[in-house]
Amino acid sequence: MFEYAERLKKLPPYLFAELDRKKQEKLAQGVDVIDLGVGDPDLPTPEPIVEEAKRALERPENHRYPSYEGKLSFRKAVADWYERRFGVKLDPEREVIALIGSKEGIFHFPLAFVNPGDVVLCPDPAYPVYKIGTLFAGGEPYFLPLKEENGFLPDLEAVPPEVLKRAKIIWVNYPNNPTSAPPTLEFYEKLVNWAKEHGIIVAADNAYSEIYTGSERPPSILQVPGAKDVAIEFHSLSKTYNMTGWRLGWAVGNAELVKALGKVKTNVDSGQFGAVQDAGVKALSLPEEVVDRIRAVYRERKKIMLEALEKIGLKVYRSDYTFYLWVKVPEGYSSAEFVGRLIDEAGVVCTPGSGFGEHGEGYFRISLTVPTDRLLEAADRIKRLTL
Ligand SMILES: *Cc1c(COP(=O)(O)O)cnc(C)c1O
Repeated sequence: MFEYAERLKKLPPYLFAELDRKKQEKLAQGVDVIDLGVGDPDLPTPEPIVEEAKRALERPENHRYPSYEGKLSFRKAVADWYERRFGVKLDPEREVIALIGSKEGIFHFPLAFVNPGDVVLCPDPAYPVYKIGTLFAGGEPYFLPLKEENGFLPDLEAVPPEVLKRAKIIWVNYPNNPTSAPPTLEFYEKLVNWAKEHGIIVAADNAYSEIYTGSERPPSILQVPGAKDVAIEFHSLSKTYNMTGWRLGWAVGNAELVKALGKVKTNVDSGQFGAVQDAGVKALSLPEEVVDRIRAVYRERKKIMLEALEKIGLKVYRSDYTFYLWVKVPEGYSSAEFVGRLIDEAGVVCTPGSGFGEHGEGYFRISLTVPTDRLLEAADRIKRLTL
């Protein structure tokens, strides 16, 4: 009866809808489904954060509208954390803004800078919000293939000059979802210089900076000298502290870029609940051991699952970053076909690489957000299917 607006009608078909349907069908049949599809931590939020939220709930000042840009105490906690973690100095008043989860900021950011006909350079495969935010702002996404032979880094030189001229923003995301590829400071240096040369804004999504399973800690792009001239970085409590449900993130970097995002947000939302921000302050001040324990869980799961999958003969991209495994689909299948069979015949839900963009074809993603016994059970079922 009601006709959708063009912006909704123009959205690419939701590639996961068919998989959702299959999953629901299996659940209805009473199948013991193992869901390795969603990137949502299964571990609880650390206790001190929950306790702080309870106390914060009782404080009347939190019951009123929060400030648009976030509490100064939260922005200071973010700035302190950046200095401790990355050696990056930030002015909490001008270079930090609170977000209602980083997805909110990632979606809204192009609204501040993109006019119809402008290009936004988006990685492929990728988190879908870079592309969708671009489309909703009336911009044109131009996809930069992430290929295994390039370490899943984009080839900046391959962007045609006529595209470069219209490009306003480039999105990058390392440690990368879905491929789990790490960043390098050399790449970030090159990217910053290239962006300055071409007058392009660098928007970096660092949601997985704390999810590493080796000894190397991923950098922030803001560690590159001069990055603050062109870059804004998006980050979040979601993955680091098992807080996806709380909806708290931030953007930091160039003061003008942060201010422009704030201007959009002032007209859209009224900020995150003060009690959630107080809990965020607590999270960012916790000793490193808390996150070490979370990382240890992923390290163990990754080791066990990697071994199990390689034993079956599956090719896994080896990486010490994120809680995902990026796995080659066996010969003779498309990503969607193989993942469809995994659900239908094994009751195991994974994400087809093609759901993240055409260059994700040939891979599927496993999320290590279930306990090891379930991972081993999943590997066992996958084995029966691949024999
Ligand atoms: C999970 C994730 C985020 C974080 O989303 P929140 O909205 O902060 O929960 C951002 N970027 C990527 C690539 C992610 O996978």
